[in-house]
Amino acid sequence: MPDHSAPLATSPLDTSPLLTSLLAGSARTHGERVAVRQDETVLTYAQLDDASARVAALLRAKGVRAGDRVALMLPNVVHFPVAYYGVLRAGGVVVPLNPLLKAREVAFALRDSGARIVVVSPQFTDEAATAAAEVGAECLVAGSTEFDALVRESEPMPDAVGRTADDTAVILYTSGTTGTPKGAELTHRNLVTNALTAAETLLQAGPDDVLFGGLPLFHAFGQTCALNTAVAAGAALTLLPRFDPVKALDIVCGDGVTIFLGVPTMYTALLNSGVPEGLDLSRLRLAVSGGASLPVEVLHDAENRLGVTLLEGYGLSETSPVAAFNSPDRPRKAGSIGLPVRGVELRLVADDGTTAAPGAIGEIAIRGENVMKGYWNRPDATAEAIRDGWFHSGDLARVDEDGFYFIVDRKKDLIIRGGYNVYPREIEEVLYEHPAVAEAAVVGVPHAVHGEETAAVITLRAGAHAMATEIRDYVKERVAAYKYPRIVTFTDALPKGATGKILKREIVVDQHTPEH
Ligand code: AMP
Repeated sequence: MPDHSAPLATSPLDTSPLLTSLLAGSARTHGERVAVRQDETVLTYAQLDDASARVAALLRAKGVRAGDRVALMLPNVVHFPVAYYGVLRAGGVVVPLNPLLKAREVAFALRDSGARIVVVSPQFTDEAATAAAEVGAECLVAGSTEFDALVRESEPMPDAVGRTADDTAVILYTSGTTGTPKGAELTHRNLVTNALTAAETLLQAGPDDVLFGGLPLFHAFGQTCALNTAVAAGAALTLLPRFDPVKALDIVCGDGVTIFLGVPTMYTALLNSGVPEGLDLSRLRLAVSGGASLPVEVLHDAENRLGVTLLEGYGLSETSPVAAFNSPDRPRKAGSIGLPVRGVELRLVADDGTTAAPGAIGEIAIRGENVMKGYWNRPDATAEAIRDGWFHSGDLARVDEDGFYFIVDRKKDLIIRGGYNVYPREIEEVLYEHPAVAEAAVVGVPHAVHGEETAAVITLRAGAHAMATEIRDYVKERVAAYKYPRIVTFTDALPKGATGKILKREIVVDQHTPEH
């Protein structure tokens, strides 16, 4: 049994852990190589470095000083990496926001973070401007003639403003495991070590790689595993501002993507759109899934159709994000999130706070260089989440005899039906095996007798037909009687968040189906 009270061993990394050093390094060694591409727009590492140095100068001229927060409301366009590294070079802290937020949500984030500047894309200016006016912040419209002229005229800042590895680099707003959004404060060390771990050990990426940039960069997964990993490796990142399976395949073929990164619903979208035969995917060498559980059926389908190994990982905004991954050096286990990554420890905690017994289900707790400093200005929430140096994830898992972790479900998604635990994920796995099912979500609905009843909401594959009773019976034959969904309903599309995760809390179940 490992000693969890012992301090973490020192990191094997000796690189200067500043995000700005990652870009400076790649600009030095791979200056002429492509850093980022979006349609016809291409920036080499030297150009990305130069553009971000100009943005840094502009921000300094606008009064940004070390530790000042600057919000970004940008989709996956080249302005994102330019502004991101520009803010960091100016010594600032990046507050990336989903560009689809409404004015009151933006105003909350600006007020909460204290950001006085928000850099926004032209198409999202309305909501940003309303919010900025409300809190007295300034909007800079990246891509406007005025902004581009200002950037061009700025003298590039030669060096980044001095920051230390333990200074905050990014504040990521996340709903975390409870309620209202909180800002996860991630340091340079958190983000750099996670990106280097991804580049060196998980994706084993180098300057010849081309990473797929369809995951939103304002979210932890895309930001670390696509953007910062590409920069750490000197690889190219090819951006897709709005995920669409047909466009995604175009980019994968056209730009010679070698590493595809996606959430499970991106894989189901690719599979359901029908990956055409004869597509040239010859350069693709690896696919990665994270952000939500990847049904085993989808894993196998995707591997067959794309002709590559698909590795699943796990993490949270609060952990920069990667905490566990199926290492490319060992056979991966289907349905598992793999092993803790370099510099990170995982343990399972029982309800009474002790370490769960071997083989038992427990809450994943995480310790390591990837764990955030805390929630911005929220000492109570921080103390609740990080206890004795361990971040408590709210995710339930079990671990097998080889040390591979298997997510059972989120603690709060657990359904308790008549005193029995029903883990939605287990039922969803069975539903995905049904040939007519494209996507499935299992949720609990209030029930007078059982406390909760299990409901399945399903989208069907194009051209497929199935009756609710047929689906219900299919699951009934395969799981214990208390588990199968008594309610089965169909929908055209499941609600999804910005990263493509299925939003269970927004699912409305029509309880008056005849099967109830
Ligand atoms: P976020 O902070 O938006 O990245 O969300 C983190 C949450 O995503 C975790 O707490 C998990 O519930 C979920 N998650 C991430 N990766 C996986 C995975 N491989 N399997 C199951 N759930 C995952």
